[in-house]
Amino acid sequence: MKHIAIIGGGIAGLSALHFLRHRYGDRCRVVLYECEDRLGGTIGTDRIGGFISDWGPNGFLDRIPLTLEMVSELGADELLDPADKSAGKRYIYNRGRLHEISPSPIAFMRSPLLSLKGRLRLVAEPFIRKRRDWDNDESIFDFVSRRIGSEAAATMVDSMVSGIFGGDSRKLSLEACFPIMRKMEYDHGSLVKAMIAKKRAAKKSGKSSSGPSGPGGQLTSFKNGLNTLIEVFAERYGDAITTGCPITEIARAENGYRVVREGGAAVEFDAVICAAPAFAAADMVAGMNQSLSKLLASIPYASIVVACLGYDRQDIAHDLDGFGFLIPRRQGKRILGSIWTSSIFSGRSPEGMVQLRTMIGGDTDPGAVELSDGELLDIITEELSPVLGLAGPAAYIRIFRYKRGIPQFLVGHPARMSQMNDLLRDFPGLSFTGNAYEGVGLNDCVVRSEKAVMATAKHLGL
Ligand SMILES: Cc1cc2nc3c(=O)[nH]c(=O)nc-3n(C[C@H](O)[C@H](O)[C@H](O)COP(=O)(O)OP(=O)(O)OC[C@H]3O[C@@H](n4cnc5c(N)ncnc54)[C@H](O)[C@@H]3O)c2cc1C
Repeated sequence: MKHIAIIGGGIAGLSALHFLRHRYGDRCRVVLYECEDRLGGTIGTDRIGGFISDWGPNGFLDRIPLTLEMVSELGADELLDPADKSAGKRYIYNRGRLHEISPSPIAFMRSPLLSLKGRLRLVAEPFIRKRRDWDNDESIFDFVSRRIGSEAAATMVDSMVSGIFGGDSRKLSLEACFPIMRKMEYDHGSLVKAMIAKKRAAKKSGKSSSGPSGPGGQLTSFKNGLNTLIEVFAERYGDAITTGCPITEIARAENGYRVVREGGAAVEFDAVICAAPAFAAADMVAGMNQSLSKLLASIPYASIVVACLGYDRQDIAHDLDGFGFLIPRRQGKRILGSIWTSSIFSGRSPEGMVQLRTMIGGDTDPGAVELSDGELLDIITEELSPVLGLAGPAAYIRIFRYKRGIPQFLVGHPARMSQMNDLLRDFPGLSFTGNAYEGVGLNDCVVRSEKAVMATAKHLGL
């Protein structure tokens, strides 16, 4: 019987626990240590007075089969709650009003979201020369400006990057954040040519290919909010979980690793999967390997605030007919965008009320997380009012702050990851999972945790 420790009880640690127990349950004994008194990490849900509000993530895209397979193995399919189809409609705020992002190229070309010059530059994309220097990473903004023009980059991609990563498109790595886009240029020389090739291939195989404007896949959550998934994990694997147990150190032991708890008690394991945030993992390995610790500590995190506000339906003039909207940074607003929670998922607000989820902060506005509730509410009300036609105050207010919320994959991140992989060759049986390495979304965490479990199983001969 092999003895394995998992450190961290967010989605990454919990999915590693699931894969180990589900696939190798009779050949290993697993313990998960979580420092807080609750599981879930950035996932949490408040259920108050008929409102259901997710603290951090509000769903995952259903395009990665592994996440759905895991949900199914947990017996939780029936609890899934896919977003309403109308939530496919997304908006960008530009020059004082909302513009719908149409997946139809003709409708998009007619939309005044970009100037005529910006639209003409965009259609020139297939004629732009393919990049020659593939050895160096580049920022998302540089890539998009090069391919479709700086206006489209500053309007469409900048807002998407702040919505997904809370990040600055001028600083984030294309290869780490959008590897598919890089591959599209690498393989086809053009994004448009790559999309045409994808559509042709999909037609040939009888499958549908997703439109160019959406991220691909349907946003999916759980009835009663995303924390439902965490509750399912807790119920299924409670016997393997120790909460309220901060880990301070991972050290080498004769046959594996010694995991030290706050207070000094230590337990030896044959293998360790560390699913704590990179900055916490850096502290844990500092005594064992300085280079690894420094690499982990060099991954920065952006702060972010999520404000879930409930309004009387009659107090909002806008139809709220879609997913919500994002705001390019150059529009000079502090809010990053607003998601119309009660239009996306059913049962998120009581009869006659609606719920909006507004993000503020991110890498370009680190001071926002320090503002008081009152200051945040004033900014949100002032900036939402002209866009949505607010006629009354929020009747329900929940504000969630993340000082180190979303890891930032800066230009050069892929090189840092290969350096980390090289260092880890000297530490067989030790792996790192979570959102700080290969992707920030829930799906990315699940995929990376499965890889960590497979590497652990191979090392231990399970
Ligand atoms: C505001 C916000 C909105 C987001 N929205 C989405 C979204 O809609 N869709 C999506 O796919 N992704 C979204 N994300 C990203 C997603 O939430 C994260 O990628 C994912 O939840 C991270 O999971 P994790 O397990 O890697 O880390 P975490 O959730 O941070 O979990 C790490 C765990 O480790 C524990 N820990 C830390 N130190 C120690 C220690 N010393 N000992 C023991 N335990 C320790 C922590 O307490 C925590 O429970 C969002 C993130 C944020 C912040």
